[in-house]
Amino acid sequence: MAYQRPKGTADILPNQIGTWQKIESTARKVFSKYGYQGIRTPMFESYDVFVRSVGDTSDIVTKEMYDFNDKGGRHITLRPEGTAGVVRAYVENKLFGPEYQKPYKVYYMGPMFRYERPQSGRLREFHQIGVEALNSESPQVDAEVIDMALELFRRYGVNNVKLVINSLGNAQTRDAYRQALIAYLKPHFDELSEDSKNRLYKNPLRVLDSKDEGDQEIVKNAPSILDYLDEYSSKYFEEVKHLLTKLGIKYEIDDSMVRGLDYYTHTIFEIMSDSQAFGGKFTTVCAGGRYNDLISQLGGPDGGGIGFGLGVERLILLMQQENPDFYSENDLDIYFAYADEEGNELAFELLHKLRNQGFKVDKDYEGIKLSSQIKEAIRRKSRYYVVLGKKEVDQQIIELTKVDGNTEQLTLEDLENHASNFLDNF
Ligand code: ATP
Ligand code: MG
Repeated sequence: MAYQRPKGTADILPNQIGTWQKIESTARKVFSKYGYQGIRTPMFESYDVFVRSVGDTSDIVTKEMYDFNDKGGRHITLRPEGTAGVVRAYVENKLFGPEYQKPYKVYYMGPMFRYERPQSGRLREFHQIGVEALNSESPQVDAEVIDMALELFRRYGVNNVKLVINSLGNAQTRDAYRQALIAYLKPHFDELSEDSKNRLYKNPLRVLDSKDEGDQEIVKNAPSILDYLDEYSSKYFEEVKHLLTKLGIKYEIDDSMVRGLDYYTHTIFEIMSDSQAFGGKFTTVCAGGRYNDLISQLGGPDGGGIGFGLGVERLILLMQQENPDFYSENDLDIYFAYADEEGNELAFELLHKLRNQGFKVDKDYEGIKLSSQIKEAIRRKSRYYVVLGKKEVDQQIIELTKVDGNTEQLTLEDLENHASNFLDNF
């Protein structure tokens, strides 16, 4: 029996890889403009790293983690998100001394693992591109991170998005709000979903994030966390909004947005789209926020941080709809077809010479008919094809044919030594 890939995983095949690579290289370029450097942390971490950070009542920890005991009896988790590992690395490698830039800006890209019910835009192995700006607590950094996320979407040619923001304030804000929320939800206890009943006293903010429609109905009239911000938090949020406006960034405020991870404080944000790619229903593609207490929770100095994670599979769904031409590259510069054995040998030699000069060229190796070779050139989206035979070898002149029909005569010497006059190389 043939094997199948595990449920919720995908093979990213060569016909899609160009899009992935261009998405990644575009992100690297954007991030480097803003002063970010790459970081690569392990694909798995100690289970505790996620319980301490993401939170033991979050969906991720209660239901979605791939965790296991390794052969040495260590409790290990395949990373469900990127921030906790980056902060763990930041603390462990002491990247916060005076010799380090503040904020300490890093980005990552790679696979994440969550045991979820697979559907469109939701996998068990998926990929995120993310950033963290650590060791700094300035509204300008919050605005800059949001600006950079939106710049990414612009570079991807996706304009049909909206930015939604909220503030969760600090620990006191959440304590006060927690009480208010419990008081509001208590009378509705019997109507709540099982998950929300369990969370009501442990972590009532989670109820706001419930995907259950009944819960969502109840939550609509809940008190607003924005009424519980202390003076510092409230000023901080005002300043972030002011700076966004200064940069010409439009936003919506959703005071019931709490995000699925427990470590957030102050500014949180989501970039959503209701593109047809998501059946017209608002779907979050990029999400993030500030986490001022996370670094100390993981054993480091207080210092604050903010970041976001962007789901690459969801981004690609969106781009297929909104900017399908993002990645279009001719697969080949020249396809060498041959009419006889002399032509075949010349073609083989030319591959070597032109490839070494940086051109993408190819030929048939199977001895198929000339007409099939030309069809292959077209199928491969080659910019040009050349037919080689005894005549071309004898006269040292070839015809370079554009796939759309124009033909140009060229000496073989010109092709071998001056191809950069008519082709781009690298
Ligand atoms: P959702 O509410 O859709 O479950 P989330 O709040 O769990 O999302 P985050 O943890 O904030 O998502 O992750 C940031 C982004 O990563 C999401 O906006 C999404 O684009 C992507 N993402 C999260 N989980 C998955 C998944 N299982 N499959 C594909 N992409 C995902
Ligand atoms: Mg989720």
